[in-house]
Amino acid sequence: MSDKPDKFIDDNGLRLDGRRVDEIRPMKIDIGVLSRADGSCYLEWGKNKVLAAVYGPRTLHPRRKQIPDAALIRYRYNMASFSVEDRIRPGPSRRSVEISKVSAEAFEPVVLTKFYPNTVIDIFTEIIQADAGTRTAAINAASIALADAGIPMKGLVSACAVGKVDGQLVLDLNKDEDNFGAADLPVAMTQDGEITLIQMDGNLTQEEFKEAIEMVRAGCMEILEIQKKALYTKFGDDSSFDLTEE
Ligand code: UDP
Repeated sequence: MSDKPDKFIDDNGLRLDGRRVDEIRPMKIDIGVLSRADGSCYLEWGKNKVLAAVYGPRTLHPRRKQIPDAALIRYRYNMASFSVEDRIRPGPSRRSVEISKVSAEAFEPVVLTKFYPNTVIDIFTEIIQADAGTRTAAINAASIALADAGIPMKGLVSACAVGKVDGQLVLDLNKDEDNFGAADLPVAMTQDGEITLIQMDGNLTQEEFKEAIEMVRAGCMEILEIQKKALYTKFGDDSSFDLTEE
């Protein structure tokens, strides 16, 4: 692990990677990268590299797990052993099980599961390279993979973290900011701004919390535009492409 830097923000207000406090890392999205999946996405966000694959809706087995009036959303978040500095032990961990659960819930308000009773929609996300913000990167990729699979949704889900270093709020923490910072607040939201995931490590005052939510909202809206642009580039920016419910 790297040592704690003396300062995270310089006298010009710039972070160690040159970003402003409210600036997200560059994001690159490739759609339809896996031929076996119904929908897929490869996403790079700063040094994070993530793959998402969507399968379904398909009949859920065993039948006792079926929901008679809706599809089940199953979400797997997994970090490859080689994705971090220290090797990660393969297989589920407490952390990955928790992230998988809350990430599935982040999509429940937007996916129109009622159209597909007794089925399952499987979302697999694999972290190939990690540099903080991997759960939010995976959600951004999964959102695109769902759209690529043609799953009807009320809209996309966009996710970003906000945190605090050197007593200042910063958007989209990198690894050092995440590891050594005073707070880390990952958030996912719908395109209408409804929060579908919120977690928090560390401490913020009430004022800081309010400000952090506004900062992360702006970040999510910026990411939404990047996601929409990627989808429009792939599928065309016309009225036939409409994710919304009639
Ligand atoms: N990390 C790691 N080993 C782990 C878990 C996390 O090296 O077992 C690193 C990784 O770079 C990750 C970062 O710490 O992106 C922050 O982890 P956190 O649990 O906050 O989740 P994330 O910010 O990636 O959603």
